[in-house]
Amino acid sequence: MKLFKQAEVYSPQYLGTKDVLIAGTKILKIADELTSFYRDDIEVIDCQGKILCPGFVDSLVHITGGGGEGGYSTRTPEMSIEEAIVGGVTTLVGVLGTDSITRSLENLLAKSYALEEQGLNVYCHTGSYHLPAVNITGSVTKDIMLIDKFIGVGEVAIADHRGSQLTVNELAKVASEARVGGMLANKSGIVSIHVGDSEEGVSLIQQVAEETDIPVTQFYPTHMNRSAELLEQGISLAKAGGYIDFTTSTNEQILASGEVSAAHAMAIALDKGVPVSQITMSSDGNASLPLFDDAGKLVDLQVGKVASLHESVVEAILEHNVSIAEAIASVTQSPADILNLKKGRIVEGVDADLNVLRADSFAVEDVYSKGAELMKAGKVVITSHF
Ligand code: ZN
Repeated sequence: MKLFKQAEVYSPQYLGTKDVLIAGTKILKIADELTSFYRDDIEVIDCQGKILCPGFVDSLVHITGGGGEGGYSTRTPEMSIEEAIVGGVTTLVGVLGTDSITRSLENLLAKSYALEEQGLNVYCHTGSYHLPAVNITGSVTKDIMLIDKFIGVGEVAIADHRGSQLTVNELAKVASEARVGGMLANKSGIVSIHVGDSEEGVSLIQQVAEETDIPVTQFYPTHMNRSAELLEQGISLAKAGGYIDFTTSTNEQILASGEVSAAHAMAIALDKGVPVSQITMSSDGNASLPLFDDAGKLVDLQVGKVASLHESVVEAILEHNVSIAEAIASVTQSPADILNLKKGRIVEGVDADLNVLRADSFAVEDVYSKGAELMKAGKVVITSHF
């Protein structure tokens, strides 16, 4: 048992100063003071002046690596578990990307089992950028129904030269396959959508929602902060009930070319009246971030970082006046609810996935996943083999 003493608790809603008791893997009790629980064998963690919030849920990470668009030497490396822990991420969703030839779903599953063995909560999507979707058991529906880790499909690429140039009917079909799999297995069956650079933006999603019985909430479009124009489209989609996800991995050059930072995009969307329950941020960790020279020649390749998720939470609060509760919700409760995961909240009875943050800088100090300590005082405390 561990007792988090006198923490400023964001559940992600602000609950005030509370004691939070965890037993084994679960949150047992939350109260103003839990003095009657004092026993010698309870580890007491003094959280005075600290924030206690749910462990972050990162809805899009290329855990087995991504990229490769500049040739084999530009394939990005796998995510290491430390990269997630230092950013306070305790739950993540692994995906393939452009390359579903040398990257496989079997490898994705193996990596997710490995991360889970080491203490994280890991889910995956079947499929990749392309349709027909790669799968393991014969169909997207079967994969979602029969393979525990698969909760949806994607990221399916639209508005992108690397995508399968889908028709409305083709997107509706894969969405229906994922939806049925999700319904029958009590999972989200979400269709993660990679939205590329093309002007058409999310119009394909809007057409499916208008012309078929598939609701707009079946889709989870990401990179919606890619440009001011796409952000505008995303806000319209959200006003029609849809979800929008903003990508936190970026660099100066991408921002200079018109990308809106995820934190800023969130502030704009909130300001325009989109509820935080429809807004999320994800890292797109381990995707490639190409750097080009003025002639458009690839000169360097950086790798997206999972820890950028936490950096964007801090940026949203400190630079864009987003409330602490909403900034935290966008990386906890909102993605967990969209993905139908029992995660992302501090309430009695749920998994003890917790972050202790400094109240002034919001730096991540301690990280707990299913009650186990993964980081203490800013230092990762698990041992990994590599
Ligand atoms: Zn993408």
